Amino acid sequence: MADTNPEQVQSHDDHTTLAQLRDLMRQFVTQRAWDKFHQPKNLAASVSIEAAELLELFQWLTPEETARRCKEDPTFRQAVQEEMADVLMYLFSMANVMDIDIARAVADKMRRNVAKYPADKYYGWYERPQSPPSV
Ligand SMILES: [Mg+2]
Repeated sequence: MADTNPEQVQSHDDHTTLAQLRDLMRQFVTQRAWDKFHQPKNLAASVSIEAAELLELFQWLTPEETARRCKEDPTFRQAVQEEMADVLMYLFSMANVMDIDIARAVADKMRRNVAKYPADKYYGWYERPQSPPSV
């Protein structure tokens, strides 16, 4: 597989494929011989750690501060963007290591969510659906 140049990856979501982003992550890991570190357990932990870093940016902000900073604060927006990228990059690496088709996984999960939360029943409202009692 030919290397993907990070500079050549289109910057817009409409033009970049998951495969291109997965290749970027695969190359990054391979070029550094970090495959030995990118094991599923380590990657799952890394996703959680990066998600916590994303959450930390919002810690103690009021809803009004959150809305303002998300809309008007370029430094804050950049920090959020970087943590979101960290989460996604570890997910891409986990998909590479476990050979999981991300698009298929999302489509399958969305299909189950649509069935679980019919729009006519959950429109503007949420409650965890009752699960049958376990035996
Ligand atoms: Mg981070």
